[in-house]
Amino acid sequence: MVIRYSSGKISVKCSKNSRILVDDVNFDIDDGETFALIGKTGSGKTMIALSIMNLLPEDAVQTGGKFDFCGRFLTGESLQELLGNEIVYIPQSGGDYLNPTRTVKKQLADSLKRLGFKGKDIKNRAIENLGKAGLSEPEKVMELYPFELSGGMAQRVTIALALCSNAKLLICDEATNGLNHEATKEFIFEINRLFPKASKLVITHDISVAKSCDKIGVLCEGKLLERGDAQSVLVSPKHPYTKSLINSLVKNGMEWLPILRNDKCDCPFYSRCPSASERCLSEVPEKTDGVSMYRCVL
Ligand code: SF4
Repeated sequence: MVIRYSSGKISVKCSKNSRILVDDVNFDIDDGETFALIGKTGSGKTMIALSIMNLLPEDAVQTGGKFDFCGRFLTGESLQELLGNEIVYIPQSGGDYLNPTRTVKKQLADSLKRLGFKGKDIKNRAIENLGKAGLSEPEKVMELYPFELSGGMAQRVTIALALCSNAKLLICDEATNGLNHEATKEFIFEINRLFPKASKLVITHDISVAKSCDKIGVLCEGKLLERGDAQSVLVSPKHPYTKSLINSLVKNGMEWLPILRNDKCDCPFYSRCPSASERCLSEVPEKTDGVSMYRCVL
């Protein structure tokens, strides 16, 4: 089972022009593997997640994309049929994602009924999944409404909901936002424990989360700049953007480099790159291995 994703171009119309938000981003995720997509806010990470689920906003257009899901090319309707069952989304804020008018018990029951559970088995499996997701006293949690849950509890309920599926691909979209340091550290370990065979796409701006993943792709302005084994990329980053991203997050409390230049350049990092030179304007960044990865010209 392997997930192969190719974004093609995803763009939105802005007055008379259209703006490319994601530009030929490609990656594979093996069975059981975690792949982190990392980049600052607005780099295209969430657009990629939405395109995988065929849930792009109405004003967004995708051309030339391909999604090979375990040997099947999925589009439109065939993809929607798998959502919530084989393709499962874990959102960034569990509290906002859950239906505020239904108790945890009812929301879990809805998912379990779709899987074919009936009668007492629904309650038993719901309690089991809440326990597996790390909630103590799951019987009590079953009776609560989302507003009665803390941020961490709500996130665990979304994980319990994900367990009510046959997940082959988990999309975790900034799922550690709002969690405390300890819970953030444990997150990847937990999803690997609970979904050992599923492929996991982890969308994050948090280096500590990306570090726990198997592979990593670094996005800037919708372009893939570096990709590889997570440890190698984070310990010995090659692209100036990856280096700045790591330095800014760790040393400067997530402050970003100021805009230094306004010239147009194929390199998406040119406006802020501390290493930029005249050469960056005259040379087109190389694309490697037949995939669109924008290498630095240096
Ligand atoms: S191509 Fe130029 S602007 Fe882009 S990362 Fe390399 S040095 Fe910086």
